[in-house]
Amino acid sequence: MKIIQNILEICNKHFCFRCEIKMGRRNRQKNTVVVVVQEQGFVPIRMVCPYCHSKVLTEIRYKDGLLTYILCCGLVLFGCWLGCCLIPFCVPSLKDVEHYCPECGELIYTTFRI
Ligand SMILES: [Zn+2]
Repeated sequence: MKIIQNILEICNKHFCFRCEIKMGRRNRQKNTVVVVVQEQGFVPIRMVCPYCHSKVLTEIRYKDGLLTYILCCGLVLFGCWLGCCLIPFCVPSLKDVEHYCPECGELIYTTFRI
């Protein structure tokens, strides 16, 4: 039992296939790495600006994109031509996202919906 405890202490730092079997399911959770995945490109991101080389949290702006125009045309085809076809232009989650540097104001990159 002491040997296994020693192995567990060592293996908490690194993954070990042998210890994974001995520890069983309950103890295996100690080695679990939690990875938080952000929504890619549609929220402000912490990065180094390629223009001014400072660490920034990007400033996002919404811009009408291909998805916005396709949905507008689709609504017109289904009879929503009295203004309802303009709804996609008012919904930020249907628009492309532009990331700007708050320090120098340069456009860093754009995330497209389509
Ligand atoms: Zn910058």
